[in-house]
Amino acid sequence: MNPYAAVAPRALYLHLAFCRRRCRYCSFLSRVMTQSERDDYVNALCCEIRALGRRDPAPLATVYFGGGTPGLLTPGDVGRILETVEAAFGLLPGAEITLEVNPGGETAGKLKGFASAGVTRLSVGLQAAQDSHLAYAGRGHSVADYVRVCEAAGRAGFASISSDILYGLPRQTPEEVAATVRLALELGSSHLSFYSLSIDPGTVFERLEQAGKLDPLPDEDTEREMYAVCLELAEAAGLGHYELSNAARPGHEGRHNLVYWHAEPYQAAGAGASSYTGGVRRRTSSEIGRWMEHWLGPGADLDTDLFEEEEAVSRLDAMREFFWLGLRLTEGVSPARFEEVFGAGLPAGLRQTAVDLVAEGLLEGTESGGWRLTRVALDIANVVFRRFLLTEFDIH
Ligand code: SF4
Repeated sequence: MNPYAAVAPRALYLHLAFCRRRCRYCSFLSRVMTQSERDDYVNALCCEIRALGRRDPAPLATVYFGGGTPGLLTPGDVGRILETVEAAFGLLPGAEITLEVNPGGETAGKLKGFASAGVTRLSVGLQAAQDSHLAYAGRGHSVADYVRVCEAAGRAGFASISSDILYGLPRQTPEEVAATVRLALELGSSHLSFYSLSIDPGTVFERLEQAGKLDPLPDEDTEREMYAVCLELAEAAGLGHYELSNAARPGHEGRHNLVYWHAEPYQAAGAGASSYTGGVRRRTSSEIGRWMEHWLGPGADLDTDLFEEEEAVSRLDAMREFFWLGLRLTEGVSPARFEEVFGAGLPAGLRQTAVDLVAEGLLEGTESGGWRLTRVALDIANVVFRRFLLTEFDIH
């Protein structure tokens, strides 16, 4: 049996599927909504949270407002959602409550309100410290907006601020990525997430690329250099590189995302939100209108028709996930932790894959007798993950 089938989730992801405008590279589920649609969305979300709490009323250690642009919520909305969460599940003392904000016009004025509503951590979408890149990506904010939001976050008392950085943008250089990381650090970010741009289906960037009109993208080597720049500057400033794309000051690691990388269960609410409960991974309908109608309807409850993906994770697959998710973390994975989770020794097939990858220079041993990615493997981590995904092995 999947050992997580009987474990109560301690994390809740909330997907706020609305934005002020659509960025030109983004394929996340969200659309522009009027204030009254956003009000309906919040009402629907509260209904879903109550239903989830009736099913698994275990108290939560983390709540993550993602999207979309949760920063478009009013502090009153955030307070009401958190009261609903508290009533449905309860919040453990010291719970991490993260809210993603974009540095657009009105955000800075709302930060005190978010803090009073219970938010403990902000994730700010900087992406690039050059207005030309922000404009080309259709971000709808300036570098000065980012500076204002970070200063306001400090005044509002946020001790934990994460900044998102996007590298691999058209015409972007490693020097510009370095300037972006430096700005985020100067403005007090205790956590950095750095992601490479991908040209996703359905985006403006994809249409431009197909028409041969997208400004030139950096080549693979330059992208690797950009990634290396992010790591070097973060580490030089005292942030620990704890996950492939994330670095943090000690104690400021994103506890919510650690749940994903530890392959532990989590609840999720909102259109298109993915969850992992009872040993089953599910994705709620990404038809936003259908999701809202369902939850605003009379007697709405959890309904399997509302899931567009549903997959029971077998014990074997949970063991593979343990490796390919756990190896994202620089702490790596260990046979001792494997035994703790699965109540069984490490299967010979998985051990052999790890040993082979050490011989190939893609994994190295850790102090705890386990393995982590080598520096070389950070750039081709997917190759390593695939090897574990494809490993055949027996369990007795
Ligand atoms: S990047 Fe963020 S703000 Fe931009 S469209 Fe996507 S979800 Fe919305």
